[in-house]
Amino acid sequence: ALYITDECINCDVCEPECPNNAISPGEEIYEIDPMLCTECVGHYDEPQCQQVCPVDCIPKDPNHEESKEELMRKYEIITGAA
Ligand code: SF4
Ligand code: SF4
Repeated sequence: ALYITDECINCDVCEPECPNNAISPGEEIYEIDPMLCTECVGHYDEPQCQQVCPVDCIPKDPNHEESKEELMRKYEIITGAA
């Protein structure tokens, strides 16, 4: 999963781009639900939120490191394809 750092400026550009609805406005900055973020695996070649974020504040979450296979498995579970 990816996560949003405190450099987020709450611009709301990323939220509608997420195919998994993993992004939401948090208490202070936008947040990514690691249970829902597949790093866009299954949907796109690149993480869509990273592509649009104007301040580049969405890196990989070191606390939720996942392999491509694990991300694909998460995608299948979320979409009911498994
Ligand atoms: Fe959503 Fe993709 Fe960003 Fe994860 S990487 S939060 S799935 S847009
Ligand atoms: Fe925050 Fe970047 Fe999302 Fe804008 S696009 S709300 S700055 S994480």
